This record gives sequence, C-alpha cells and structure tokens, in this order.
Amino acid sequence: MARTEYLQPGTLEDLKNLLPTLPTNTAVLAGGTDLMPQIRTRHPDYECILSLWNIPDLRVVEETTDGYLKIGAMVTHAAAADNHLIRRYFRGLYMACSHVGSQQVRNKGTLGGSLVNASPAGDIAPCIFLYHGQLEILSQDGSRRVDMDEFLFPDGKTCLQQGEILTAIYLPIDKELNSCFVKLGSRREVTIAQISLCAAWKNYSGKPEVLSAFVGAIDRRPCAFPNPGLLADLLTAEQAAQLLADQIRQIRLKRTRPPKLKLTEAEQLYKERAAKGVVYDVVELIGAAEL
Ligand SMILES: Cc1cc2nc3c(=O)[nH]c(=O)nc-3n(C[C@H](O)[C@H](O)[C@H](O)COP(=O)(O)OP(=O)(O)OC[C@H]3O[C@@H](n4cnc5c(N)ncnc54)[C@H](O)[C@@H]3O)c2cc1C
Repeated sequence: MARTEYLQPGTLEDLKNLLPTLPTNTAVLAGGTDLMPQIRTRHPDYECILSLWNIPDLRVVEETTDGYLKIGAMVTHAAAADNHLIRRYFRGLYMACSHVGSQQVRNKGTLGGSLVNASPAGDIAPCIFLYHGQLEILSQDGSRRVDMDEFLFPDGKTCLQQGEILTAIYLPIDKELNSCFVKLGSRREVTIAQISLCAAWKNYSGKPEVLSAFVGAIDRRPCAFPNPGLLADLLTAEQAAQLLADQIRQIRLKRTRPPKLKLTEAEQLYKERAAKGVVYDVVELIGAAEL
C-alpha cells in the first residue's frame, strides 16, 4: 500500500499555497471525530491528509466592522460553548454546541467539521440556517462567501469541491434577537439528535414574536418550521406540534429511496411524538426568557 502524506500548515497563507498541489484524493482533517471513524471502518486509500489543526486564524471568534460575528471553522464545540460573544448574541448556537456528544467530542469536534460532514442529525447546521449565516470558502483562486442555502443542498451534499476549505462562519449580529436550541435523542449522554428545533425571536412591547425556526434530523438538511409564530405562546403549542408532525409525515411520504438516516415505521412514529416534546421545550424556553 502506498504511503499517505500528512500535511499540517501553520498559517492560512501556507494552506492557500498548498491547495493547488494537493492530490485529488486528499482528506481534510479537522478534529477527526467524524473522519477518523470513517477511515477506520472504510479504509479509504487517501494519498494525503491535510490537517487544519495548527492554523490559529481558523480558531478566531471576533466581531467584524460590518456587523457580523466571524467564527473560525476550527473553533471546537467546547470553545464555542465557552465564548462570551456566541453566548451573548447567538444563544441557540451556544446551547447546541454545549450539548454536542460528550466532553471529549466537544473538545476535538469543530463547527466547520460539523457543517462539511453535513450529517442530517448534525446540531450546528440548523442554527446557521436560523441566523441566516454565511460561510467563507477558500480555494486556490481566493475566498468567497456563500449563504447556507448555497452551501448545503436539499440532498444533503455541500457545494465544496476538491481542494476547497471552509474557513469561517459569519453570523449577522442583531442585539435584539434572542434564540434557543433543543434536541431530543435516544440517550442521556452522547446524544445524537433524533430531532432538534431552534428558534429566533424578538420582544415587541413585552410579547415575543418568533421570526424563524428550523428543525434538524427530519430530512437530509434542516427544514424551516412552517409557522414559527405558533411557538410564541403555550396556547398555540399544540397546533405547532401538529404542524411539525404533519411536516415529518410529508417528508417521509415524498422519499423515493432510503434516506441516509434509516427510519423504520416505529422510529418515524416516535419522531412524530418527539416533535411534540421539542415544540413544548422551545415554547417554554421562549416564555421563560421573556418573563
Ligand atoms: C461519539 C460522537 C458523538 C457525536 N455527537 C454529536 C452531536 O451530539 N451532535 C452533532 O452535531 N454531532 C455529533 N457528532 C459528530 C461530530 O462530532 C461533528 O460532526 C463534529 O463537529 C465534526 O467535526 P470534526 O472537526 O471532528 O470534523 P472531522 O471529522 O475532522 O471532519 C469531518 C468531515 O469534514 C471535512 N472537513 C472538516 N473540516 C473541514 C474544513 N474546514 N473545510 C473542508 N472540509 C472539512 C473532513 O474532510 C471530513 O470529511 C458526534 C460524533 C461522535 C464520534
């Protein structure tokens, strides 16, 4: 078997210079929490592994002069959950990062890795949709920024081409916006979401108005919640839960081939019931935040 080359640039400049020289079957390595298990089980024949671990610029979290919070792609879930800017402006993302896997997974797993891996059960993508985030992609031709819609296609694939690196996430800062994230999994520890729901709202004259909500783990990529306004009040929570259950059923009926997330009939029924759980959790969190 041919030897695998291991590259570990120390700056963004070095990374950019390496891109045109990479063999086509190069694996990009971030925290390795998804990639390493894949390598161990599938034994792909990578000619080269490109590690991003040693590039400090990819770990920066900072406010930009044009009103965004820039989060480097190599920021780990643990670092994001500990970051005061993320906590202050993007509470939903903070909540999502705080509950990814176990402490070990949070210490190594990165936000960029989660978005590129694009698992339907990933907790980060729904939040980036929620905040209308943009993603910065580096290629040998330079950097470009794309919306989540352009980054993550409905079939669950990303727009990244060979030799392209996700370098940062940009979230527009709106100091009036509050948000939350909840998920329901099958275990108490190391919970991969069976369903997740995040919502963003503003307070108008003492009443919350939910502007947007996204559901994770029910389709190949996060789905917009059909009527987010219903999440603002306990009186409309039942209606909201019913809407979500209907949405899950519709998605399942439309499927023509087995989904990446293999769902049996029983699991699907469970998911519809779980919808109620996450809806009530979100409604309660919104109510409690606005007391
Ligand atoms: C036990 C366990 C529990 C988990 N629990 C959760 C959970 O609760 N919620 C959740 O959302 N996820 C969970 N995960 C999944 C995983 O931790 C996340 O998806 C993680 O953040 C991946 O990031 P990483 O840095 O480890 O990526 P890696 O494994 O290094 O990479 C993942 C993929 O993305 C590519 N890649 C990574 N970074 C870049 C980049 N910047 N540019 C281009 N390509 C890149 C890699 O080539 C690879 O294909 C869990 C995983 C494990 C093993």
